[in-house]
Amino acid sequence: MAQILVTGASGFIALHCIEQLLGQGHEVRGTVRSLSREAELKQALTKAGRDTKNFSLFEADLTKPEGWDEAVKGCDYVLHVASPFILGVPKHEDDLIKPAVSGVEYVISAAIKHKVSRVVVTSSGASITDTHDGKTHFTEDDWTDVNHPKTTAYYKSKTLAEMKAWELINAQTGKAKTELSVINPTVVLGPTLTEDIGTSNDFIRQIIVGKVPAAANLHFGFVDVRDVASAHIEAMTNKKAAGERFIVSANELWLIELCTILNQAGYKKSPTRKMPNWLVKLFGLLDAPTKQISQLLDAERYTPADKAKAVLGWQARDLNDSILETAAQLQAFETAKKA
Ligand code: NAP
Repeated sequence: MAQILVTGASGFIALHCIEQLLGQGHEVRGTVRSLSREAELKQALTKAGRDTKNFSLFEADLTKPEGWDEAVKGCDYVLHVASPFILGVPKHEDDLIKPAVSGVEYVISAAIKHKVSRVVVTSSGASITDTHDGKTHFTEDDWTDVNHPKTTAYYKSKTLAEMKAWELINAQTGKAKTELSVINPTVVLGPTLTEDIGTSNDFIRQIIVGKVPAAANLHFGFVDVRDVASAHIEAMTNKKAAGERFIVSANELWLIELCTILNQAGYKKSPTRKMPNWLVKLFGLLDAPTKQISQLLDAERYTPADKAKAVLGWQARDLNDSILETAAQLQAFETAKKA
């Protein structure tokens, strides 16, 4: 049994990591910005069948130095999952970049200080795919170009935070060094353990409730949250995972393909027509999030998880099943809201 800290315990991915770690018999700590969420999180874990006697919470914010030392001290491993994540456009790009980078600094510095064996950082496909050089097939050797004018604030925040993590780990000089593994998931969907559906599932919710009139020509990889959590846990102890980053992705889909899967499963508000690029660009003149999307039109992003499969023995569940399971849960939430 190991002592493990998972940062951002209230988050969609982090809570699945905690649920799986408790299921394996570990002692798990989580960080939250406010301990007022303790009852909600414990209730969600209990509902998922986990005993919470080995689960405790610490208060810490990615923008402040307080709390990280206490949370990390005594841990064998740290899963650093917390980072600001929004679908839209922040007022200023630093609203995303600064907490993402300072959070990595606080967490990894505390891990090195307290001799944690390994930190697993949740980075993203966003740190890999925006090379803006015409490439369509990506591997762990690729890095998003943070200086390119089309790279969004979120993509910059994830790339700069991951770079900072590697910089801090590689700067260690002592004999016993803290190791780093990085998980780079593509768009994450799947069932949520709380009633907070998570940022990325909101994308599916908007499609099924009819907020997406037609499918823009966008292409992304997708992966189930339970498989993202299991990749973190395997990367935590697998000897060959030290010093490596891993793309985790089940499959890529064009948005029209995702919408069609949902429509054919009975979600009739999901569009079956494509939106022409010129129309997306026109809407983009009036709306900042649509402008951001319009910069991604037609860009193919193939992100095979070959390395995670070979090194971690990782497998992804069927993407169609994940999409439909997600939609069913979101639809149930919508129905409950109206009742
Ligand atoms: P999420 O549900 O929005 O979780 C984000 C977590 O970060 C929340 O626990 C949030 O805490 C915490 N957080 C944000 N700002 C913070 C701050 N200033 N101080 C402390 N905690 C802060 O999103 P998620 O999907 O689980 O994402 C988790 C990680 O996976 C992020 O690093 C994200 O970039 C990465 N990722 C996500 C996807 C995806 O599609 N979901 C794909 C690739 C990578 P509060 O509850 O207090 O807000």
